[in-house]
Amino acid sequence: MGGTFNPIHYGHLVTAEAARDAFHLDRVIFIPSGHPPHKAEAGLASAEHRYLMTFLAIAPNVHFELSRVEIERQGPSYTSETLRLFYEQDDSVDWFFITGADAIFEIASWHYPENIFRYAELIAASRPGYSLSRLQALTEQLGDDRMRRIHQLEVPALAISSSLVRDRIQSGLSIKYLVPDAVEQYIAKNVLYQGGP
Ligand code: ATP
Ligand code: MG
Repeated sequence: MGGTFNPIHYGHLVTAEAARDAFHLDRVIFIPSGHPPHKAEAGLASAEHRYLMTFLAIAPNVHFELSRVEIERQGPSYTSETLRLFYEQDDSVDWFFITGADAIFEIASWHYPENIFRYAELIAASRPGYSLSRLQALTEQLGDDRMRRIHQLEVPALAISSSLVRDRIQSGLSIKYLVPDAVEQYIAKNVLYQGGP
């Protein structure tokens, strides 16, 4: 599961756990992006802060792991490149890439989408505000073979986003129960997300 994780929140964790259950995954690897090609740098906590918050959030779950591949790679974080690395490490594994309903609709515009589908199957998780019912509309862009490699997943709805968490911090509102306690404490201790938008 890739993401900016700026910061990680319960929406990410619930989605990962639901995917693990539904698809009988042995483990879920969280991959914080280094230099996300689609996101503005303003308001982006450093890769090391995002990595450590993700570490704190996943630590209690024995099936959750964390990867530094995108953080350590120079240049933009391309999912296609990351999936190729995992596939080449072990091509006997069935790799899945977990993504929310918002991201799946952008996938055709990502770097080398053909490689994303070549090295992994996709799990498209429902997310409040984005309807998976429009998924069929992607067939024209992606073709039937790739569409068959997209699996839908209903997740208990959590209308939480990292943007919401950051906005609440800026407005002096509580983020308790939106992110794990350890993440809340890490943000306070390091005075993250207090500056301009
Ligand atoms: P931002 O608001 O900064 O864009 P975000 O909450 O969308 O942050 P990302 O790091 O961009 O978080 O998301 C990583 C992945 O997790 C994406 O595939 C996204 O669709 C998915 N995701 C994030 N929040 C949820 C949620 N509440 N329910 C389901 N999927 C989610
Ligand atoms: Mg997002």
